[in-house]
Amino acid sequence: MRALVVTPGQARSTCLLDVPEPGLEMGSLLVQTLAIGICGTDVEIVSGRYGWPPPGRERLIIGHESVGRVLDAPEGSNLTRGDLVVGVVRRPDPVPCRYCAVGEWDMCRNGLYTERGIKERDGYGSERFRVEPQFAVKVDATLGDLGVLLEPASVVAKAWDHAERIGARSSAWSPRSVLVTGAGPIGLLAALMGRQRGLEVHVFDQIVDGPKPQLARDLGAKYYGADLPAVGELAPDIIIECTGASSVIADVITRSAPSGIVCLTGVSSGGHTISFDLGSVNRSMVLENDVVFGSVNANRTHYEAAAAALAMADRAWLAAVITRRVPLAEWRDALDRRPDDVKVIVEFDAHP
Ligand code: BGC
Repeated sequence: MRALVVTPGQARSTCLLDVPEPGLEMGSLLVQTLAIGICGTDVEIVSGRYGWPPPGRERLIIGHESVGRVLDAPEGSNLTRGDLVVGVVRRPDPVPCRYCAVGEWDMCRNGLYTERGIKERDGYGSERFRVEPQFAVKVDATLGDLGVLLEPASVVAKAWDHAERIGARSSAWSPRSVLVTGAGPIGLLAALMGRQRGLEVHVFDQIVDGPKPQLARDLGAKYYGADLPAVGELAPDIIIECTGASSVIADVITRSAPSGIVCLTGVSSGGHTISFDLGSVNRSMVLENDVVFGSVNANRTHYEAAAAALAMADRAWLAAVITRRVPLAEWRDALDRRPDDVKVIVEFDAHP
């Protein structure tokens, strides 16, 4: 079968290769891949800046955002042939740390976790993949390949879950507004979940044209293009930062309402130094009981919350988030970032 393979650490090493069928050691559930999504992490991996091959190997099958149809399911798995599933990215560390021991691998403390398509485990970017049933999440059949949005949605579902748990430190917590910075797939899915919670949603992105402003407005959110000052005096209860850009982070951490919560989800590349008055940031955070926290990855409960959010979402809106669909044979195009891209997916031929 064909698979998208990379030699981590080596730029321009990605290729479409014939590889053996996945072995049973990868899981008892056999899945026919419909599509994989491409995100910033994949772009980092193919450019040689991130990613690790499985132990004893040089190459890694990429693809951590998946969706596929079950070809073969073991008895007792609650899944049957034809079900639409998405594979969970992270596996608990083998020690396990106290978080992984309770299924919260997204909070792994010792860094020995593995991730499919990213860290020491083959990903889902092959015509068929195997996965352990407990790491496969069923998605609503009517979503079809829009289910490929489940993994990014799970990351956002975790961000919301943790923001709400922090909010619950006060019995008076009753958020009204959220500011989302960055209108890529993560930002737009964060905005979707904000609207599903009945909040007033504000979305900021540098981009002023292309599909992003309309996608935000179609949710009933207010969109601000160009500069963050355009957001004005807005003091939202929650800020979900999805750009990873230093200047945006520096701006938003002091922008929330008193007792506000800022969630950082963007993995910055580093190397950008900006000057920052930490003393005055500290002063305002302390005097206002503000919280800034980071959030990465997702555990099974977040995948399930995300599956429920996608099942409720407008199908046409979800379809419009996927701005480019690239056939597997033209995979190179999928890794090439274009100005109007929101989510780009690689489509696998489901009927070989
Ligand atoms: C993935 C996460 C993963 C993170 C760090 C992100 O792109 O969505 O599941 O934990 O990269 O490797």
